[in-house]
Formats: sequence, structure tokens, C-alpha cells
Amino acid sequence: MSESRDYDVIIVGAGPAGMTAAMYAGRSMLKTVVLERGASGGELLNTEIIEDYPGFEHIEGWELAQKFESHAKKFGAEFQQETVITLEKMPDGAFQATTDSGTIYRSKVAIITSGGTPIKLGVPGEIEYAGKGVSYCAICDGAFFRGHTIAVIGGGDAAVEEADFLTRYAEKVYLIHRRDEFRASKILQKRLFENPKIEVIWNTLVDEVQADAQGLVHNLVLRDANTHETRNLAATGIFIFIGFRPNTGIIEGHADHDEMGYLRTDMNMETSIKGLFAAGDVRVQLTRQVTTAAGDGTTAAIAAEKYLAAMRSPSDEPVISGSGGYAV
Ligand SMILES: Cc1cc2nc3c(=O)[nH]c(=O)nc-3n(C[C@H](O)[C@H](O)[C@H](O)COP(=O)(O)OP(=O)(O)OC[C@H]3O[C@@H](n4cnc5c(N)ncnc54)[C@H](O)[C@@H]3O)c2cc1C
Repeated sequence: MSESRDYDVIIVGAGPAGMTAAMYAGRSMLKTVVLERGASGGELLNTEIIEDYPGFEHIEGWELAQKFESHAKKFGAEFQQETVITLEKMPDGAFQATTDSGTIYRSKVAIITSGGTPIKLGVPGEIEYAGKGVSYCAICDGAFFRGHTIAVIGGGDAAVEEADFLTRYAEKVYLIHRRDEFRASKILQKRLFENPKIEVIWNTLVDEVQADAQGLVHNLVLRDANTHETRNLAATGIFIFIGFRPNTGIIEGHADHDEMGYLRTDMNMETSIKGLFAAGDVRVQLTRQVTTAAGDGTTAAIAAEKYLAAMRSPSDEPVISGSGGYAV
């Protein structure tokens, strides 16, 4: 028979959103478990240097991850290395997370902070040189490419917008697209075509990312989509924007989401399933950063605590005051 464990709050994912939520839930004296399939940190572990988390002008991703984790543990949150297979709301109103070890975790509320995954090109050199010239985040890594010649891959809004953004730093930006027209909105395209630092390379695929003796990207092998001829392009950075997939497959039952699968929440981070909150990269929002994930995690944990308080005394309105003056 599978083992079953009971908590006030289950948090799925130990990225910045999950660990911040865990810290606040712990501080609220809630019995909290964080279920994480890998090491704590989420995308922080794929980020060499963070320079835009307030209070830390320069910190390595793994180090910030460790600080988040120990801070959450200090307030009593429990961390379990578990891959959640399904998260469902049961007929009795409890949430149940079933993991691949066969353990069942039950709780009164749940917070999903499972993030998302940038879609990979799947070419040699891409994974090997991630953080050494290969990036999936312009806001995060753009400043490392001041004065460089770089390539952006993709043809949707993200690729076109970020190519334009990256010219703040890079001397030259090649936008490489496998087709002969963009999917991006016309206004973004107009801005792109007017930018003298950008050159579009149409009908072209990337076959390989190559690095120099120091392991830093210095060349891309390109292939013409029609003639299949290959050629080299000297570039010290490659930014890949061919899509991002939210990790929401575990939710059983319908939770409202956008066309890409990002979860829709209200201002308290509650999803369309009562008592299920979502925070960080997994939800519909303007930008995806460590700061926004931490902010979402804060709101989700405090809203979850309010939700539990209202369950204990149903006469209380589970309304969160807009004053921001709620003390935890
Ligand atoms: C290459 C790169 C560089 C970046 N650089 C910066 C930067 O410099 N500054 C900045 O502010 N932001 C940066 N970002 C963005 C930032 O890392 C993310 O916005 C942030 O990590 C989102 O936090 P999160 O907790 O929502 O999700 P994530 O960090 O993605 O964490 C989600 C966690 O959930 C876990 N998980 C998923 N599914 C399951 C499951 N079924 N069971 C158990 N666990 C599960 C995952 O293993 C992961 O640990 C970068 C992103 C990338 C990809």
C-alpha cells in the first residue's frame, strides 16, 4: 500500500517561486512540504551569474539557490526529492500529489511553482555551451554581450522583440529564421527592420554551436533550408527563442490557462481551482524573472494562509486586503 503524508500546504517545485512560498508558509506556521524532482534552485541552476536580484550585485545561480533553500528550511519548510506525477483536488476538497516513488502527499491547499522549460534547438553544442554563449533569456544575459556580434534564433514575438532589445548591448545582431517571414506582430517587425544593427538571415537553420579552446561560443554552423548548403557565422552569443513550455501537465482536472498552457491566476495567485495557487514562471504574466517569481511566491503563500484561515472559521471572508499591510 502507498504511504500517505498530510500537510497544510504542498508546494510543487523548488525554484525561486516555490522556495519563497515555502519560506512564507513556514513563517505562518503552516506544515509545509516542497516536492522537487531535482536539486533545489530551478532555473537558477542553469544560470551562471545573477546580477539583477536586489541586494546581490553579483551572485552565482547555485549560491542564490542555496540561500533560498536554507532560508525556507529555517522557517520549518520540509523539502522532499520527489517527482510529482499528478496533482488533483479530491472529492473531500483535499489536494493530493502522487509522486513517482508511489508516495501520496495530501494537503488543504496547494501551490504549483513548477516553472517552465525553454524549447531547445536540439543541435550539438547547445547544451554544452549553455551559459558560455548560449542563452534563453535576453534580460538576464544581454549585458554580458556588450560590443559583441550575436545571433538570435526564432521568428515569433519573443525572438523579434529580444533581437531589438539586445542591440542595446551587442554591436551586431543576426536574426536567424527558418522561414521567409516572421510570425511576430507587425509593430515589432517594423521596429526590427528599422534597427540598423540587425540583419535578418531568412530560410536558415542552425546545425551546430561551436566554441573556442576556452569553451566560449565563437561560431555557428548554419544550413540553408532550401539548398542545404552550410556556412559558418562568427558569433560569440546565441539567444534561442523558439518557445517556452510551462510544466503544467501534472494538474488533473481543468485549470484555466492561456493558449500556451500558462496558468491564469487572479491577483492573489489563485487559479480557477479553489485552493490551488500558482506562482512564478508557470503562470500567465508580463515577465519571468527571479524577482517576479519570488514576489508571486510571497503572494501565493500569504493568500493560501488566508484561505486556510477562512476554512477554519467559514464566517470570515477569505478576502485579502489591498493595503499590503498584512503582517506575517
Ligand atoms: C538560462 C536562464 C538564465 C536566467 N537568468 C536570469 C537572471 O539572470 N535573472 C533573473 O531574474 N532571471 C533569470 N532567469 C529567469 C529565472 O531563472 C526564472 O524566471 C525563475 O527561475 C522562475 O522561477 P520559478 O520558481 O517560477 O520556476 P523554476 O526556476 O523553473 O523552478 C521550477 C522547479 O519546479 C520543478 N518541477 C517541475 N515539475 C516538477 C514536478 N512534476 N515534480 C517536482 N518538481 C517539478 C523543477 O525541477 C524546478 O526546480 C533565467 C532563466 C534562464 C532559463
